[in-house]
This record gives sequence, C-alpha cells and structure tokens, in this order.
Amino acid sequence: MTTLAHRAGMLETENAFTVLQRAAELTASGRDVINLGIGQPDFPTPDHIVEAGIKALRDGHHGYTPSGGIAPLKDAVAADIDRRYGFDINPGNVQILPGGKLVIFFAAMLTGEEGGEILFPDPGFPIYRSAIRFSGATPAPYPLSEENGFAFSAEDVLSRITPRTRLLILNSPANPTGGVTPRNEIEALVKGLEDHPHVMVMSDEIYDQLIFDGNAMTSLLEFPSLRDRLIVLNGWSKTYAMTGWRLGYAIWPDMMLDAADKLAVNIHSCVNASAQFAALAALTGPQDCIAQMKAAFQHRAGLITDGLNALPGFSCGRPGGAFYAFPNITGTGMKSAELQASILEDTGVAIIGGTSFGEEGEGYLRFSCANSDDAITEALGRIRNWLEQR
Ligand code: PLP
Repeated sequence: MTTLAHRAGMLETENAFTVLQRAAELTASGRDVINLGIGQPDFPTPDHIVEAGIKALRDGHHGYTPSGGIAPLKDAVAADIDRRYGFDINPGNVQILPGGKLVIFFAAMLTGEEGGEILFPDPGFPIYRSAIRFSGATPAPYPLSEENGFAFSAEDVLSRITPRTRLLILNSPANPTGGVTPRNEIEALVKGLEDHPHVMVMSDEIYDQLIFDGNAMTSLLEFPSLRDRLIVLNGWSKTYAMTGWRLGYAIWPDMMLDAADKLAVNIHSCVNASAQFAALAALTGPQDCIAQMKAAFQHRAGLITDGLNALPGFSCGRPGGAFYAFPNITGTGMKSAELQASILEDTGVAIIGGTSFGEEGEGYLRFSCANSDDAITEALGRIRNWLEQR
C-alpha cells in the first residue's frame, strides 16, 4: 500500500480559499453572493503597472531570471525601504519570491525542525501554524486579545521563549484583526530579545502601508540589534492590488541568504519575469494609488465597524490598519464556524470564522473591507435581517 510522508498530514489550509470556493459554487447556482471573505484588494492593479508587465513580455522577457530576482528590482526594494523608512538595506539581502507567503514557508523550513519551537500570533494568518507544523517544529501560539487592541504584549511574548525557541513570528498591522502594535511595545520586545540571542525573528510587514490615521508603523528593520537575525516579509499583493501576480519579497539576514537562495532554486527557480518588471514599475512609478486605496479601506473600515456595532450580539473595535474588521460575536450565542456557515448559506454573505485563525479566534468573525460601500451596506443589512428573524 502506498503511504504519504508523515509531514504531508501536517499541512493545514487557509479557510478563506475554502469559503471563496463555496461562494463561487453558490454564485454559479444563481445566488447573489457578497464576498467579504477573501483578503485581497477589490481594486484593479494600476494601469502603469499592468502596462509594464505587458511591455516586459513584448520586449522578450520570457526566460528565467536570477533565482533571487532581477537586480533592478532588488535595488528598487532597497530604495523603497530607504525612501519610506530611511533604513539602509543591502539589495543583496533581498530575495524576490512568488508571494509573501513563500517567506513564511522558507523561514519555517530554514529554522524549524523537530525539537524546536516557533512562536506565532493567535489569532493570526493560518499559514504560520501550517508551515511550522510542516517544518517539524512545535507551534507555540501567543494569544492576542481584544482588550489589548489585538496588539502583542512584549512581556507575554518574551515569557514564552524557551531554549528551544527557534523563531518568533510578528505581524503588525495584523491579519485577521487589523491590530497595530504600538511602538513602545515593539521597543520593549526588541530590548527583551537581547537576552535571547538564539531566537530569530520574522516580521510580516505585508500591511505596512495600510495603516489608518492615529496609528503608526514601526518596522522591525529599525532596530540594529536585531539585524543579524531579522527576516522581513513584504510584497506587492496588498499595497498595489497585485495578489494574482504572485509577488513578494524577503529581506534575509546574511546567515540565511545562501540557504534561502538554494531553496528558491530547488522549488521555483525564479519569479515570473514579466511580473518582476511590473513590480519594478510599482515601486518606481507614481505612489498615489496607495493613498487612494488606503483612504477607501479606512472609510470602509469605519462603515463596517459602525454597521457591525449596530447588529444584535456583535461588538467591534475599529481596526488600526490592514483591511479587516474582527467583531466579537459572543453576544449571538453562536460559535464562529457555525455563524460563518449559516450567514453564507442563508444570506449569501461570505465572511470567515475567527477559529480559522487559531483557537483564540473563537467568538469572532473576520470581515474583509475589500468590497464597495454599497456591497458592505447590503451585506450588513442582510445579516441584520437574518439575526432579527432567528
Ligand atoms: N502575510 C499576511 C499576514 C497575509 O495576510 C498574507 C495574505 O493574505 C500574506 C502574508 C501573503 O500574501 P501574498 O502571498 O499574496 O504576497
């Protein structure tokens, strides 16, 4: 009898894709579905970026590129970090990958193994836990709480570090909560990490430009004491509405560069050449598209939050960034998964149950702001009618 490797059973999935599939089935059967499930901007990729991708194909960029990405793109990533944060990055430490997601997988595979532990946020992006399990390491979740605005607490995270901790995963602004961890907490964490030099850090900064008024981004790149053990994840998916282009990047510490490059050569060889030229146009072209999308997300986050707070049994704090609202639904008396399924089947509104993001997500739902004002208003109206009729 044929058998799969033990590690195949370790992989988990991203429920957002399962909900997307079910929403597509319902749409195909004639239902009018409003999708507030998937985390991708509903805006098109800006024209100048699309044109750069097309031009690259017409110019004959059909072949493999260097596995870590074309040199001008790595330079542009370093220049972009310098422009936005004023930090000096060596382009040689940048690796272009087919999605930010790959950075998570690479980081877990290169640091995790049996006997090791990897700390990650709960609720958090589900791929963290899946990649950790696949690496053989033990997933060590640290809870994020609503009372703390879903920011992480330096004291709590530091208290969970053991001699077996290999990697600490951080994410601010966060998926699924929209939580933004304040600078003082990050500073305290970095200070505390000086006592744990064996711990690598992966900062998932994919939402760093989607941060709402009154909140500020603190990049982990800012702290020289971490530079030799810091991995940064970022990319184009959320910032430039480029989810389907499959583009992302890692900034690796020197000690991981060679292994990360070998992993890329073994797995995907390189990122689609024309997509890399589009990514270059995104970083070097006009940046006003980011401000426009951010303004729309901020407005919708307010619309969704106000609407959710008016629903019986729901309460919701205002997200500090990203494009999600994460209401507390314990007042409905229903479990997250049950509410997710019933709302989709009965009202045609696709949302994600909080437990898709970890055990601490019980009692919450994730609403994505990536839909129009009208669609959001209509979705909230349907849910209200449904709740009132129950
Ligand atoms: N990190 C977080 C927190 C995310 O929410 C996502 C996408 O949803 C990613 C990483 C990966 O993004 P991509 O692979 O599309 O660049």
